[in-house]
Amino acid sequence: MIQNLQNIIVDSLLELIAPKHCCLCSDKLYNEVDRKNSYCQSCIENLPEAPNSDFVRERLLQSITADDIAISEIIGLTVYSHELPIHNAIFDFKYHGISKTAYTLGGLLGNKITEYSLHSDFIIPVPIHPAKKRERGYNQAEEIAKGICSVVNIPLIPFALKRTFYTASQTTTTSSAARWENVANIFNVDGTKSLYHDKNVLLVDDVFTTGATTNNCASLLLQHGAKRVDVAVIGITEKQ
Ligand SMILES: [Zn+2]
Repeated sequence: MIQNLQNIIVDSLLELIAPKHCCLCSDKLYNEVDRKNSYCQSCIENLPEAPNSDFVRERLLQSITADDIAISEIIGLTVYSHELPIHNAIFDFKYHGISKTAYTLGGLLGNKITEYSLHSDFIIPVPIHPAKKRERGYNQAEEIAKGICSVVNIPLIPFALKRTFYTASQTTTTSSAARWENVANIFNVDGTKSLYHDKNVLLVDDVFTTGATTNNCASLLLQHGAKRVDVAVIGITEKQ
């Protein structure tokens, strides 16, 4: 009884000192379930559907040939655009150090992944350069992947891929051709070929725009023996 009362007092004080906000719309959260989730239910119910794999394949064909497409299925939590609340959430974990938002959205993405029959053997996050990781304190794709793993029972290999060059932020690189050029030959695969041989990999990233980054990583994993590479991202843009 006393313990319960203490918990209620502590919760009320925390609410006063540090009120919780929805990671999408930034509204204050009052409902206990919403506070635990870090988002309001209405925001999740109203998340616009992400473009599907066929749509993404057509986009990739604008830049590369069918033979060079290394991604099989792509699963997006939602469509990404600057005008939508998801932009704020992604901005928070990329530039404001709020890694928990990446984990939270990863959990939601994990729920969506369970609707597909991917049979993935590993989850591998798209890497960022070590210097950028030091600066940010974490790799946001890895935090998303951890969120996915909290829902699906698939081993995470955080350091399977390495980024060897520090490149300008893709969000400031406007042309599609420049993005493909930017990421060519900047990734390495760590580990022996036997590790990936005949395995289904689920590659995780934050936003899918041109597909240059994820397709490059997927291609490397296929070269190292992976049987199939699927991709899971928080947001997929409607335009590249
Ligand atoms: Zn909300």
